[in-house]
Amino acid sequence: MSQRSKAVVAREIGKPPAVEEIEVQAPRHGEVTIRLAACGVCHSDLSATNGTISYPLPLVLGHEGAGVVTAVGEGVSRYAVGDHVVSSFVSMCGRCHYCQTGRPQLCVQSLQALYTLPDGTVRTRDSAGCALNVFCGCGVMAEFATVHSDNVVKIDKQMPLDRAALIGCGVMTGVGAVVNTARVEAGSVAVVFGCGGVGLNAIQGCAIAGAGMIVAVDTNQATLELAQQFGATHTFNVSGQENVGKALYKLTGGGADYAFDCVGVGKISEQAWGVLRRGGTAVIVGIASPKDQITLNAQQVALSEKTLTGSYYGSARPAQDFPRLIGLYRSGRLKLDELITRTYSIDEAPQAFADLTAGREGRGVIILGAA
Ligand SMILES: [Zn+2]
Ligand SMILES: [Zn+2]
Repeated sequence: MSQRSKAVVAREIGKPPAVEEIEVQAPRHGEVTIRLAACGVCHSDLSATNGTISYPLPLVLGHEGAGVVTAVGEGVSRYAVGDHVVSSFVSMCGRCHYCQTGRPQLCVQSLQALYTLPDGTVRTRDSAGCALNVFCGCGVMAEFATVHSDNVVKIDKQMPLDRAALIGCGVMTGVGAVVNTARVEAGSVAVVFGCGGVGLNAIQGCAIAGAGMIVAVDTNQATLELAQQFGATHTFNVSGQENVGKALYKLTGGGADYAFDCVGVGKISEQAWGVLRRGGTAVIVGIASPKDQITLNAQQVALSEKTLTGSYYGSARPAQDFPRLIGLYRSGRLKLDELITRTYSIDEAPQAFADLTAGREGRGVIILGAA
């Protein structure tokens, strides 16, 4: 049975997304329909509306959602109606080289589900009956979504769904970059560039890992103050700074062991590399524009034994990591309540995007129907 649903749809690059009444079709083989409870508004959603990441439009936004399963398609044995789930914006087939070697974040099926479901079709139609693409196989900034069951992870029903939603992207990406990708050791010196939704989570990931010094770097003073709540031991406002690298090198007492570019701008990745001590590791977490390049001194790469690596989705193994993160939340070591700085109804979604564009601190969350 198909379902009427409000959804947040990007139709034109450079224009704010609009709230539309759409049709969400019943799940086919291997798929589930979810009634969403909440969906975070992520920078990648914004990037799809301003063209930084190019997706074919029209596109139902949202890839950081949580909700309740309302229908299951044929062949779905892992999920049942009533299950609580969090969306995963990588599709995990369980069979490819990457899934089999413990790196489902690189699953080949995900490449077939960048803006459709893995079979290349969608279950979403606008009021004129035209197909609507879905962000990373999700499109969960909507009251209902039909997604592949490889794009959801079942969670404990006791976990509040609005908090759980954040695990689906920002928390997993930020905390995962620290604990899965970089494997930061206790006592390390870490610098985090960009303290938005992902950066704050990289900061709390560093705190969970026991980093000794955690330097939050941003241009916004309110954001830096929030970063301290998430475990930053030092803050550094880059606004008006002439030589960021030199100042940070001094602040860290000779360079960082780990640096994270949570913005995704080539120049910032270079700063992250530059702030490292010899043997350190820089991690690019933010997704840069496809034209952006970075330049490194080739000789120094060898001489300094520094590492530059990417981290996609916090090197997540969602089926294992989402429950682990929920465990950390329950034990009081992962801050999710504090992350939600603003909530919106679905009709207020355009305002949520305006606030994100304006660089307001923390995470905005759209509260949807399911409780
Ligand atoms: Zn995201
Ligand atoms: Zn796979």
